[in-house]
Amino acid sequence: MIHKYTIAELSQGLSNGDFSSVEVTQYYLDRMQQFNPQLNCYITQCNEHALAQAKAADDLRAKGQAQGITGIPIAQKDLFCTKDIKTSCGSKMLDNFISPYNATVVERCNDAGMVMLGKLNMDEFAMGSSNENSHYGPVKNPWDMTRVPGGSSGGSAAAVAARLAPCATGTDTGGSIRQPAALTGLTGLKPTYGRVSRFGMVAFASSLDQGGPLTQTAEDAALVLTIIAGHDPKDSTSMKQEVPDYSTTLNDSIHGKTIGIPKEYFTNALDPEVGDTIHTAIKAFEKLGANIKSISLPNTHLAVPVYYVIAPAEASSNLSRFDGVRYGYRCENPKDLLDLYKRTRAEGFGEEVKRRILIGTYALSAGYYDAYYLKAQQVRHLIRDDFIKAFNEVDVILGPTAPTTAFKLGEKMNDPVSMYLSDLYTINVNLAGLPSLALPSGFVNDLPVGLQLIGKDFDEATLLNLGHQYQQVTDWHRQIPTAFDKGEAA
Ligand code: GLN
Repeated sequence: MIHKYTIAELSQGLSNGDFSSVEVTQYYLDRMQQFNPQLNCYITQCNEHALAQAKAADDLRAKGQAQGITGIPIAQKDLFCTKDIKTSCGSKMLDNFISPYNATVVERCNDAGMVMLGKLNMDEFAMGSSNENSHYGPVKNPWDMTRVPGGSSGGSAAAVAARLAPCATGTDTGGSIRQPAALTGLTGLKPTYGRVSRFGMVAFASSLDQGGPLTQTAEDAALVLTIIAGHDPKDSTSMKQEVPDYSTTLNDSIHGKTIGIPKEYFTNALDPEVGDTIHTAIKAFEKLGANIKSISLPNTHLAVPVYYVIAPAEASSNLSRFDGVRYGYRCENPKDLLDLYKRTRAEGFGEEVKRRILIGTYALSAGYYDAYYLKAQQVRHLIRDDFIKAFNEVDVILGPTAPTTAFKLGEKMNDPVSMYLSDLYTINVNLAGLPSLALPSGFVNDLPVGLQLIGKDFDEATLLNLGHQYQQVTDWHRQIPTAFDKGEAA
């Protein structure tokens, strides 16, 4: 039952010689073949490539050159560029796009000897909260196939929740690692802006996008973050800040740590039953020795409106490169250059992406720039200042990740504003650039609920420490949806 193992356990098994990387990889490839048609979480499966990497990892191990994570399979969200393997970004626009280089995150996984199982489904250009905006069709939530897995990293979340990969990457611009992690019972880490290189990540909103891991446990997130984090000369926004070995502080006592509970996170926007599980989790942290303090983040309510000016503005600029000339989709038989641009973009982009481009172009246009974009940037500062003030009194902040459990497929598709509100508790963290860790914290009506811990700049270590300690006294992260908890003994 290899799928029950965390990556820490797989790593132990590999180093004990209980199984080889080729065996583990083949086991996952078989599960992908068996279960992916129901879930639709993979866009591309990389069988041959994965087995070759696994064989190379086994050879390294035989020579005594393996690191802990060598030979562990991972799946990549399909917006991390992969050399010679399609990178679609969930869009018809890039359905034919093969990158000539690897994203830095992919390169670092390769350098550590990890095995890439495939590329994961996602909302087109990472715009969405339900994974229903993909050119490749919606992803299903393994806990209830009539529901969404969250988005935009919905393929990543469904794949790890159903154990079609032991871990995956995602990206989080306004919540897209944490919200799907919460809706599928996973641990998801959005690092500090600048902690993980964005080189080779197809850009959505450049001042907000950040890549990170979706895993079963905080311990696994620590293992993955340790290898993918760090300065990258190819990304001028990546920070020259040393990367600690995040595994070494997981077992520190959390006694005396102060956890702030923002009152703005517990209003009637929050499903009361979801709220109950968060309160139970707060008690667990108290039992572990943490002090709990009520705090206020008064500008929380401004985060969603500010985000929906800034993110579309940046997206409209980033997506101008898809013009049918350089790469990606090109319309057939264009009459002239203008017709080429117009029809390529009209045919290549989906509805939500077009909506964002229109909003963004409007917000940046002469005469409106000051009223919208500039104003939004000013309010963004106020939102960050709320956090800075709070962190004078507390070490971390705890709240729900999403206001509800997973909603039904189709439920919010015709109501963009209600879809946007799924990220009510996550978006302000991106606007402030802070790290945040989503942790499974219970179930409501058999659907997973997640809490999130928000940390100071570059203090992922404290979040992972708290997360790991919480996971020593709970077993939510060990739950696997019944339909997917089967497989041969290895
Ligand atoms: N759901 C948000 C949006 O649609 C956030 C997406 C993300 O984090 N990539 O923009």
